[in-house]
Amino acid sequence: MKLPEFLLDLAKASNQEIYLVGGAVRDLIKRIEMKDFDILCSKNAISFAKHLEEKNLAEIIAISEEFCTAKIKWKINEDKFVIMDLATARSEIYEYPGALPKIKFPVLIRKDIARRDFTINSIVIKLNRSKFYDPFKGMKDLRNRIIRVLHSKSYIDDPTRIIRAIRFAIKFDFDISPEDLKLIEQALADERIIGIIKEVRGIRVGIELKRLFEFDYVAKALYLMTKLNVWNICALNLKINMKNLFKHNEIKSWEIGLFCLFIDNDPSITFEIFEKLGFTSRVINQLKKILLLLDVSKIEISLKTYKIIESLEDEFKECLFLLQPQMKTIYNKMKISLPEISPEELINQGFKGKAISDELENIFKKNYASFNYNDEKPAFLE
Ligand code: ATP
Repeated sequence: MKLPEFLLDLAKASNQEIYLVGGAVRDLIKRIEMKDFDILCSKNAISFAKHLEEKNLAEIIAISEEFCTAKIKWKINEDKFVIMDLATARSEIYEYPGALPKIKFPVLIRKDIARRDFTINSIVIKLNRSKFYDPFKGMKDLRNRIIRVLHSKSYIDDPTRIIRAIRFAIKFDFDISPEDLKLIEQALADERIIGIIKEVRGIRVGIELKRLFEFDYVAKALYLMTKLNVWNICALNLKINMKNLFKHNEIKSWEIGLFCLFIDNDPSITFEIFEKLGFTSRVINQLKKILLLLDVSKIEISLKTYKIIESLEDEFKECLFLLQPQMKTIYNKMKISLPEISPEELINQGFKGKAISDELENIFKKNYASFNYNDEKPAFLE
């Protein structure tokens, strides 16, 4: 396991103890490409960033006085550079579950490590000495392919960790430890959790769900979310049959994945939550249309309905047809029932105003009713 040269150079140039933390260490041990370089500073990340800039080794991109963090661009050579996030070692104390944590810095490195999510993410490398520091035995869990939190209150302090546990389990094909499964169950059963999500962590839950569903294995994610009953954190009562979704792993959009699990619930709550999770109005409108079209017994066979289906983007159309296969048949039948005559031709024939759309509807309905499946089955019909 070899540290990239630039990290050793960074250590040589440092004016305090610095540590590589988070995903990069995990990826280094797993011998996969390191992406994000998070550097923890024992004294002050901003003064370190300024020190590097003065020496002309790096350029400061951003600074946060509030959290005492800095983002820098480290020059590897004239035309190559790497972005790094520098943070000051801090502690986060949750005064009660779900509260926004009280932050204190600088603190001992161990305290910073203790606020992290999982043992596999708590291994750090002291760069000044190229030495591992692993107080929570993350290496062992990494070897045994286990996801485990650092303390028993972790999931209720921050329920987004439940979704992160699922993401890491899927991403690395690890198991969530039996103790953690119990802790997750307890956290989800805790009556405070809904309030925590709604009031404090809505956006963060949204961000983590987005990361989970952007992943290649959406069906696996949906399966684990359901198996662990995680949907409870959205205060909803879910009972969707996901058979169709599992057969079609290709549904990739996280918004659709999530929507499918919310279908049996009160739409007003569902869409309120979607807004909180950061869904755009474009997506919400598409999902609302799907909702209107799911109950075949309430579908009116009309040009208007056809136009609604037609206005769905491909991915959303696919979702509608997966959830309600009958709609695909109806849609295809509607497609070949479209009026052969155009509105302009009707105008030429003397139709005016509303009479034009009424006539088009009449022709459409007549075509639809007279179409006989058994007589003629165009190739595109299943
Ligand atoms: P990936 O490689 O998938 O991005 P990552 O571990 O780098 O994974 P990030 O979300 O970028 O994930 O987080 C960086 C580090 O910050 C994590 O390794 C973890 O130590 C810490 N962290 C992130 N979110 C939380 C959280 N909710 N609670 C505690 N620690 C967290």
